[in-house]
Amino acid sequence: MNEQQNGHYVLLTPGPLSTSMTVKQAMLKDWCTWDDDYNKGVVEAIRGKLVTIATRQPGYTCALMQGSGTASVEATIGSVIPSDGKLLVIDNGAYGARMVQIARYLNIPCHVLKSPETEPPNLTELQRALEQDSAITHVAVVHCETTTGMLNPIEEVTALARQFSKRVILDAMSSFGGIPMDIGELGVDFMISSANKCIQGVPGFGFVIAKQAELAQCEGRARSLSLDLYDQWRHMEDNKGKWRFTSPTHTVRAFHQALLELEIEGGVVQRHKRYSDNQKTLVQGMRKLGFTALLPDELHSPVITSFYSPQAADYSFKTFYDFLKNKGFVIYPGKVSSADCFRIGNIGEVFQKDVLQLLAAIEEYVNRLP
Ligand SMILES: *Cc1c(COP(=O)(O)O)cnc(C)c1O
Repeated sequence: MNEQQNGHYVLLTPGPLSTSMTVKQAMLKDWCTWDDDYNKGVVEAIRGKLVTIATRQPGYTCALMQGSGTASVEATIGSVIPSDGKLLVIDNGAYGARMVQIARYLNIPCHVLKSPETEPPNLTELQRALEQDSAITHVAVVHCETTTGMLNPIEEVTALARQFSKRVILDAMSSFGGIPMDIGELGVDFMISSANKCIQGVPGFGFVIAKQAELAQCEGRARSLSLDLYDQWRHMEDNKGKWRFTSPTHTVRAFHQALLELEIEGGVVQRHKRYSDNQKTLVQGMRKLGFTALLPDELHSPVITSFYSPQAADYSFKTFYDFLKNKGFVIYPGKVSSADCFRIGNIGEVFQKDVLQLLAAIEEYVNRLP
């Protein structure tokens, strides 16, 4: 592999992830932020394409927001919940827990529906909470819990939220663009993702796709100036793609290229197929080598997989990581508190040949363990 010889490696991590050479090349030009080439040609094009990917239903709009994905989650929670509102957060992993933490920082009343990281949310408890706590105005849920790789049952969650007339905030950070869904059909009010996940851009900004009628009601609610989602959106609408503050131009340009490459690949359906095929090859190969995945197959997303660490006394994540990095692959530490795991991501510019080479490298490592 040439890339490897140049000191590059394949990132098997859930963002930043491996991007194509053409996405990287899109950053080789400096862009000004006030002319039509950039604002109409790139920013507005991106906003339009994102809405088209998210839903076939009318009435949705999109705002881009500087920062990592968490900034967009914080912008959403902080800008859409009114001062007398209350958020219910479904927490079965680190990213659910992060939304709880955001609500606490912002002094937003929060009902936490906690379940173990290896289990799906308890829908009976969700229904009970929605029946009993009438102060709740918004329900927040993570689609793919990147902590474990679990795919949460968003159809059931959004249906319950709608039944009780609650607004839905969906953290689809690690699934949007890689797993087909229609947020309009689901009835999601605010969906959040970021540039460096399944769209396969580089890090630097996130985005929120929102029911326009809902977002339009959020003026003056924000608890932060730079994270005022309504104001950011209003500014982009009124000024045809202009960001309020410095736009991450290179990142945005790379993202535009990444969106074109998603179309060339055949859209979300084909990308999902590639990720799923890679994940199946990975899990089958790992099972042959004696590894066990943390989650049963039916709870799994094709985005990232957690495996139990080998039991051999000589195993350490550090030596495993360094060995694989030397071979041109970067894996991810575990994030589950209840079990000793490591994680391997499937998203990004990663193909079957990479998975097969990775498996060969892991086999070599395993054979060296006494
Ligand atoms: C990556 C990710 C985020 C955002 O993480 P950042 O490090 O802020 O980009 C949020 N939620 C989920 C589910 C994620 O996978």
